[in-house]
Amino acid sequence: IPAVVGVENLTTRLKDGDWLLVDGYEGTVIVNPSEQTLFRYGKIQKAKQSFESRLMSANELAAQTLDGVNVSLRANIEKADEVALVKQYRAAGVGLYRTEFLYLSSTSLPTEEQQYAAYKEIVAGLAPAPVTIRTLDVGGDKPLPGASGLIGPEANPFLGFRAIRMCLENPGMFKDQLRAILRASAHGKVELLYPMISGPEEMERANALLAEAKEELKKRGQAFDAKITVGAMIEIPSAAIAGDVLAEQSDFFSIGTNDLIQYLLAIDRGNSRIAHLYDPTHPAVVRTIKQVVDTGHAHGLKVSVCGEMAGDAIYAPLLLGLGVDELSMTPTLVPSVRYLVRAMKM
Ligand code: PEP
Ligand code: MG
Repeated sequence: IPAVVGVENLTTRLKDGDWLLVDGYEGTVIVNPSEQTLFRYGKIQKAKQSFESRLMSANELAAQTLDGVNVSLRANIEKADEVALVKQYRAAGVGLYRTEFLYLSSTSLPTEEQQYAAYKEIVAGLAPAPVTIRTLDVGGDKPLPGASGLIGPEANPFLGFRAIRMCLENPGMFKDQLRAILRASAHGKVELLYPMISGPEEMERANALLAEAKEELKKRGQAFDAKITVGAMIEIPSAAIAGDVLAEQSDFFSIGTNDLIQYLLAIDRGNSRIAHLYDPTHPAVVRTIKQVVDTGHAHGLKVSVCGEMAGDAIYAPLLLGLGVDELSMTPTLVPSVRYLVRAMKM
């Protein structure tokens, strides 16, 4: 579905009965296009369709570079019904399961059982392919009704009581989620990921609650993968800088470029007026990613990227060149990135 956002005053400029041409590739909306424009777009549409069918046939092949390096391409999902898309686009698993949707779809917090059912459906549906489940990343750009009482109004929600910070202060709620994720790990391959980690103390506290959750399940006699791996999202500059310390407590890193760029450059990721300044190739961004990759590798960790950059045909080769091991993206973008991987040498 083509979509263009941030077109100022569009709705007041339109009249009933106007025709709109929405170009989601260029980010433009043309009101009442002329015959000539329609003809031009007809040709563009045909060319896109034939390119897409070429991408889909090449998508049956391995995500391997010309010099034989296999690249892991995974999918970002939010709901169980996206399992079909993960399979359709032949992603190698899920690199980021955003669990917020469960909390978004209800005005109360989901119970352990409700979460377990949802996670299990995805994990079992994709087994033996791995699924990286991220714990609740609420707040900032993700205000959620079910948890709004836990956060409250804030002057600076993007620098506020969000994600892992909120979870660590609500250990009962957090452990409900951790137990649900652990129990789902008995049905396939699960990797656990904490969002918005800013330093080692948060990682330590989260891992301590995880250890408690495991003990509780053992007491109940409920199964889980005792070797479940645990990763930190690297999306706050302090986590990138202190990557060597975090690596001691992590099994893998997942770089969240959406937030990392926002916090490195002080550019609100949702503000269209400054969107032109949101630059994934800013030297500070490129250097930071390289530093995180090198630090992770020096500690034997896998380093993946699950921000939008990973699914962008322009940036994916840059990320692989910087040494990133795995890219995770919207499932429909896997074919274009696979196509590029197959044309690259490492
Ligand atoms: C990110 O910040 O890059 C990311 C993947 O997480 P989200 O977009 O959910 O904040
Ligand atoms: Mg993020």
